[in-house]
Amino acid sequence: MAEQFDVVIVGGGQAALAASYFLRRAGLTYVILDNGAQAGGAWVHGWDSLHLFSPASYSSLPGWPMPDTPDGSYPTRDEVLDYLRRYEARYTPPIRRPVTVGRVERAGGKFLNIRTNAGDFLSRAVIGATGTWSAPFIPDVAGHEFFGGTQIHSAHYQIPAPFAGRRVLVVGGGNSGAQILAEVSLLANATWVTLQDPVFLPDDVDGRVLFERATARVLGNAGAMPTGGFGDIVMVPPVRAARERGVFHAVRPFVRMTATGVVWPGGQEEAIDAIIWCTGFRPALSAFAPLDVIEPDGLIHVNGQQAIREPRLWLLGYGSWCGPASATLLGAGRVARSMIRQLTDWLASPTQDV
Ligand code: FAD
Repeated sequence: MAEQFDVVIVGGGQAALAASYFLRRAGLTYVILDNGAQAGGAWVHGWDSLHLFSPASYSSLPGWPMPDTPDGSYPTRDEVLDYLRRYEARYTPPIRRPVTVGRVERAGGKFLNIRTNAGDFLSRAVIGATGTWSAPFIPDVAGHEFFGGTQIHSAHYQIPAPFAGRRVLVVGGGNSGAQILAEVSLLANATWVTLQDPVFLPDDVDGRVLFERATARVLGNAGAMPTGGFGDIVMVPPVRAARERGVFHAVRPFVRMTATGVVWPGGQEEAIDAIIWCTGFRPALSAFAPLDVIEPDGLIHVNGQQAIREPRLWLLGYGSWCGPASATLLGAGRVARSMIRQLTDWLASPTQDV
């Protein structure tokens, strides 16, 4: 027989932990189902040299601040992972791992049915917190299936060593592209390929400002803030060093791929050994497709965090479309606080009892 809860959280990364903190205080019954083998969500898969683009004080989940790094620098991937592991040990959220949610369906009446590889769960509400890491996006370039060289997405990039001495294209003009180019260019003959000229933030602007901008934009105060967003490149130390080496010359995309390389807009063909796609992610929403909530734009349309076409479904993380800066550590906590209040009220209201 299916276990029954007020709320099931699908995914067990930082967004789930933030929701869990407020759910426990609300006194609702809930469980977190995560297909990761360990704590940390997408951070488990970040590349070895990955640093946050804000200090620890701007990277904390509710309740327990992330400890400052010994030298005050931005936390590394391993420091974020350590924080998330210790956060779980401190609050012991009810996480089951590894459990993969395959489908979320309507069960009739008050419940959704959450179908997993560890059995079915019934729940009055579901919080989607599946993140984006499992849905890397690569543009559909003509001829990509013929390319015989190495192709990886930044989701699977770890270290620059495998690219040493090779002719490499780093595709994508955001922070991932800039950070990966910065280190790959030390070992490889690397070219940066971007749709437009990349936008670099001033050296003294970091994730703190991006966070405030995202919040101001959603609250309608953007006029008071300088323009810019989470896609703009933060000048973390390795990126600054690469700029000093003159690495950041970007060219516009190739028009076609061949078995051995690419063809540039002018028709010139060039041999390439490897392409690193730093072209972003899409929200990993496929488990919710049986609810018929996924729109042609690939998103689930929400009012705040509540899905418009299925009010038992709520979404946290993913991007600012479901809450200001909600894909960040600090933003997830702030959004979770108001979301759980609304979810609790909704569960207590007669309108949900259909
Ligand atoms: P995830 O961490 O992706 O967690 C989702 C979890 O759900 C995963 O464990 C996944 O395995 C699981 N899951 C997925 N589908 C299912 C399913 N069907 N069933 C069960 N489990 C499932 N944020 C900051 O705050 N500061 C920064 O400086 C910063 N820098 C970043 C730099 C880079 C290069 C990147 C890529 C991101 C950065 N972020 C930063 C953003 C952000 O913190 C992460 O993307 C974050 O991991 C999102 O958390 P999440 O909980 O929403 O999703």
